[in-house]
Amino acid sequence: MEKKKQLYEGKAKKVYETDDPNLLIVSYKDDATAFNGLKKGTIAGKGVINNQMSNFLMKKLQEEAGVPTHFVEELNERETVVKRVSIVPLEVIVRNIAAGSFAKNYGAVEGTVFAEPTVEFSYKNDELGDPLLNDSHALALGLATKEELALIKTYALKVNDFLKAFWLERGVTIVDFKLEFGRQSDGTIILADEISPDTCRLWDTATGKKLDKDRFRRDLGGVEEAYEEVMGRLKS
Ligand code: UDP
Repeated sequence: MEKKKQLYEGKAKKVYETDDPNLLIVSYKDDATAFNGLKKGTIAGKGVINNQMSNFLMKKLQEEAGVPTHFVEELNERETVVKRVSIVPLEVIVRNIAAGSFAKNYGAVEGTVFAEPTVEFSYKNDELGDPLLNDSHALALGLATKEELALIKTYALKVNDFLKAFWLERGVTIVDFKLEFGRQSDGTIILADEISPDTCRLWDTATGKKLDKDRFRRDLGGVEEAYEEVMGRLKS
């Protein structure tokens, strides 16, 4: 499978067409952004880690958790064939522990463990700063149907059950994460985008050390090392 015309360049990935109208190739970059693009940098080797981690997890989610995904085939360190979808413009965020914008918006202490996971939506729109919205807002804006929202939540919670158990066995706590879903040409909803330390908060269970993009966001240092550490745990 070969890359043809570049369709799109995002903050962390490039997307290319292929000879097959139903398949695309994504190419992961080392570029990192935070705070809606205000902070920019590079994390050496990140593209390789995110590509490989996301593919590994999506394959497992498909095979072991019954969550359909866009993953088709890893071509090389940075490039993967995925099913073509139109992205549902919602960031689907699942949380197990208070951190990030939840801690900030609601005055919760970072690290507070929830009795049940939360699921929330943000409107995927950089100009508006990805505002938080509820189901009726998403319906009013025509972003998805009721049935799609229900299915997306069901899938998001299945992903959480799977990732919680998966990382627990490897000494890592999954605090929260962001998913994106897409519609195939027949309307089927599948998991798309990526699952990586860019899109998840991952803490070492024993020490609490942050092993994710918060090291970049908050200038904590040891960013590359943290990505490598968590990639090593993935395969352990
Ligand atoms: N997240 C993401 N992309 C975004 C916003 C959030 O991947 O544009 C992820 C983030 O890495 C974290 C989770 O979603 O794992 C929850 O993020 P939060 O809402 O706390 O926002 P942040 O603190 O990142 O601004």
